[in-house]
Amino acid sequence: MKLLQIPSPFKGVSTVRKEKCRICSSEKGLQVGEVDYWDIANARLIKCEKCGLTQLDPMLTDEETAKGCLAYYIEESLRVSPKEQKRNMLRNFRRGYLFAISLKGKGYHPKDVLELGPGSGYFTAGLKFVFPKVKITVMDINKETLDFNALHHQYETIEAHIENYSPALDNKFDLVIARDIIEHVVDISKVVSNVQKYSKENGLFHFITPNGHEDVWKHYLTFNHLKKASELLINHVNYFDGQGLLNHLIAQGFCSINYYTYNLKTTRKGRGWKTSEKFMAAISQKKSSDFYVQKVNEVKEISFDKNSLLNQWYIYNRPNLITNFICWYQHSSIIRLSPTLNIGHEIHGLFKITKSDKA
Ligand SMILES: [Zn+2]
Repeated sequence: MKLLQIPSPFKGVSTVRKEKCRICSSEKGLQVGEVDYWDIANARLIKCEKCGLTQLDPMLTDEETAKGCLAYYIEESLRVSPKEQKRNMLRNFRRGYLFAISLKGKGYHPKDVLELGPGSGYFTAGLKFVFPKVKITVMDINKETLDFNALHHQYETIEAHIENYSPALDNKFDLVIARDIIEHVVDISKVVSNVQKYSKENGLFHFITPNGHEDVWKHYLTFNHLKKASELLINHVNYFDGQGLLNHLIAQGFCSINYYTYNLKTTRKGRGWKTSEKFMAAISQKKSSDFYVQKVNEVKEISFDKNSLLNQWYIYNRPNLITNFICWYQHSSIIRLSPTLNIGHEIHGLFKITKSDKA
């Protein structure tokens, strides 16, 4: 039965970690890979046998992350055309719109929203289109990201590390958003704890993150077939196990409203279970980060007008059925599976937060 092999379990030997697991403090784990982060750092990928979280061991330092992220940002800006970048913003607008419509359908009307790591800010722009009175605050470590969000969307900005706790934000938000962020943070338990504190009673937490099993699979194959380090250019430092992530959230007072994986195309192709060498991650070349950092001046700022970007035939001045349909058609996921199966490309979470200390 082929189906029983999906996802295929990791084979390996239990080893002592350099750093404890960030979720459960276990000092042991299974080595499932080895990566070079640019020419900046080398680490093992260790999967915790207790809670299922796979992390870099040792973890990247803040300085290493900052340098690698800058190199990646420049490499990506030179590779992805401004046209494609704008197309991505529009995609995020539609996703935010669709998410807001689904919230509305469930009877939620958020007023104060915090987005951690907002990127272009167009996801929350889509949300604001549906909830025009919503107040949006964005938090990021990167000043350019915040300036872009302030300029294009007039959001309130907070320049901070999302893992650092800011007591001033306690009980302020009825929705916290973290899309494609939690796979990048050093200590996921700190982020979850902050979200819990920043949220109002019965507030919501929405995130998406890659299915860790599938995401780490390529590194696992390189390590298993060739016993070599693979290349890590984007700082995915957490690879979540669907059950482990759910257990951790529940333990912190989060209650699941929607929790599913979607996009099964990659699974169909073989990621997460086929062991053929063609699914391996590239062998590390210790790509030079300085080479890209030096090209910082070649990155052109993309200047454009938000109104012209949103001037699309299916977007009118207020939400309506045609916009609903187009956003649904382009971005809804028909097939949804439980993340505990560790199948599918991406995990979508919507959780309600109850604050036991206030009860
Ligand atoms: Zn653990």
